[in-house]
Amino acid sequence: MVCCVCLNDDGLSRLVRDKGTIGQCGYCWSPKPNVEIFPLTLVLKEAERRIRKEWCDPSRTDVPFRYIEDYLSGCYSFSEVMDRIGWEIPNWTLRTDCVQAFGDHEWRRIKWLNGANTISSAWEEFKHTVKYERRYTFLGGTKGETNRKKSTARTIQNLFSTIDGACRRASLITQFDTGNKFWRGRVFNSDDTPNIPSDLTSPPIKCCTAPNRMSPPGIAMFYGADDFDTAKMEVAASSGRTPLAAKTFIGVQFANVIPLTILDLTQINPRSSYFDDDSAADKAICNFLIGFAEDVSMPIEKAQRKSIDYVPTQVFTEYVKYVMKGMARRSINGIKYRSAHTERGCWVIFANQSECLANMDPEQGRVSRQILGCVDGSIRSEEIQ
Ligand SMILES: [Zn+2]
Repeated sequence: MVCCVCLNDDGLSRLVRDKGTIGQCGYCWSPKPNVEIFPLTLVLKEAERRIRKEWCDPSRTDVPFRYIEDYLSGCYSFSEVMDRIGWEIPNWTLRTDCVQAFGDHEWRRIKWLNGANTISSAWEEFKHTVKYERRYTFLGGTKGETNRKKSTARTIQNLFSTIDGACRRASLITQFDTGNKFWRGRVFNSDDTPNIPSDLTSPPIKCCTAPNRMSPPGIAMFYGADDFDTAKMEVAASSGRTPLAAKTFIGVQFANVIPLTILDLTQINPRSSYFDDDSAADKAICNFLIGFAEDVSMPIEKAQRKSIDYVPTQVFTEYVKYVMKGMARRSINGIKYRSAHTERGCWVIFANQSECLANMDPEQGRVSRQILGCVDGSIRSEEIQ
């Protein structure tokens, strides 16, 4: 008999708690009141059922021999399989019993059943498509795709809706009340006197000429940060190696004047049990989202900006803005991610210049509802060395 504590896995522990009885564990032997135990053989039967969905004994697989290298990973011992699926058992006796129960044959991962591979390959396929094949009508059909692509569990058509569902289940879509503050700044020549706030809002359309990770030229978005230093680091990094001598970074706070529904990529928690069937696919998507979050926060110098590389994240951002929905079918107003420089929160808010200003000259741009407003007296500047 084994207890839910010794198994050290949320999914397997849940099984023991649901089906087990209170009793003495054969591994820790410490008297713990109210700890459920369950026969190890039955626990391992359940673990094996889950593991065999992704791992197999290469000598007993249905995969024809000539395809083995295409469809199966390299060989691992069961002990290595445990490391790869993140199942750590601190109790050495229990670990040894588990390893022995699974036999000493080799194990190989079935590549085409791996959730992470599937979503990653769908994302790679999507990236290739929007960069080099079709940029505006990729949701239009599957004409011309090979059978192998058609049989991929998640094609480009349902890639985003799969991610959408995973974000919802992982509670990554969060409502922020009014008054949340965001630092935003720009680098000026030290003798400039910028207009505050209009020189620090999202850029006016005529200035939106450079591609950004999440917004293409012509589409203005508000990029901000949780604190002054993060805003400064993010801007300094994107300004590249141009000499910043005699330059000043001027920052100001904006606050949201309406509640915001945000896709919060800083809340991704990839640590869940391998043995939860439900979470296996979601975990793969979480890993994908972590990669996506790293991708959008990766610093790139202005001189290196190649517009084509941003197309996939720009398309995904547009999907978040127009298709993904929050609670009560509310539109998403922005994405929060982690700064690569300070690990603190960075924000892209879907607000153009007029949506950052209380009073907007109608001739300067389309008048729409105000989303953000400048916080009085928040201006702060720092010379840049
Ligand atoms: Zn125990």
